[in-house]
Amino acid sequence: MTPLARHLALFGLLLPAAQDPQQTPTPPPAPRSTLNHALVFLDPAHGGDDAGAPLLSPAGEPIFEKDITLALAGRLRSQLSALGLTVLSTRDTEAQAAGAPSTGAISPSAPTPDQRAGQANHVHPFACIVLHATGTGSGVHLITSALPLPHSSDAVPTLLAWDAAQAGFLQQSDRLAAEISTAIARAGLPVHTSRATIRPLDSLTCPAVLLELAPTRGLSPADSGYQARVAQSVATALLFWRGHADPPAADPAAAAQP
Ligand SMILES: [Zn+2]
Repeated sequence: MTPLARHLALFGLLLPAAQDPQQTPTPPPAPRSTLNHALVFLDPAHGGDDAGAPLLSPAGEPIFEKDITLALAGRLRSQLSALGLTVLSTRDTEAQAAGAPSTGAISPSAPTPDQRAGQANHVHPFACIVLHATGTGSGVHLITSALPLPHSSDAVPTLLAWDAAQAGFLQQSDRLAAEISTAIARAGLPVHTSRATIRPLDSLTCPAVLLELAPTRGLSPADSGYQARVAQSVATALLFWRGHADPPAADPAAAAQP
C-alpha cells in the first residue's frame, strides 16, 4: 500500500473497488447540464474532530493537516478571486457543517465525504480541487479517480452509482491534472500524478483532482511560501482550464444521488 493509500485508509477515505456497473439500476434519461465556467469548488480535507495527519510547522511545532489544507484553500481562493473567478469551499473555518454560512458557528464535525460531494455536485463547478497534506512523500501529488473509463456505448445518459459518479468526468479530470502538473513543474516544484479510489473524488460530477502537499527540499507543507507557489500555479492552470472544461456527452450530474 502506498503512503497516500495508507493515509487515506487511516481516515476512512479509501474506497473498495467500484461496484459492478451491471448492478446499476436503469433510470430515465438525465437532462444535460452545463458547467459553471466562473466557479471553482475547493474541498480542504479534514476539519473539526478529524484533524488529519500530524505534521510539523516550519518552526518545528506540531500542526495538523486540517489547518494546512484550510490555509492552502485560503491562498488558492485569494489567487482565484483576483483572477475574477468565484470560489466555493466545503469549509472556510476550522470546521464547518455542510450548508452552514461561511461566517456561521463552528461545528466540531467537519462535512462528511458525501456532504462534500453533494455540495460540489449541486453547483456544477468547472473544476473541483480536493486538498490534503502529508509529512511523507515529496512535492505535490496530484491524484485522479481510479474508476474505469465508461465504454463508448455508455454515451446515452445513465444513472451512475454515487460512488462512481466521477466516471463520466474522468477524461476531463485527467486533462485538468495535466494542466496543473505542467504549471507546478514550471514553478520548479516536484510533481507526481497517480490514480486512487478516494472519497469524495469518486462521487464528484465535475472535473476533479486531489492535490496532496508533501514536503520538498526541506520545506514543510505548512510553509507559507511553498503554499503560495503552489496556489499561484494551480490558479494559473485553472484560468487556462476554464476555457477547456466541458461536461461529458452523458452528463450524470443530475442523476447521481447519495
Ligand atoms: Zn488527508
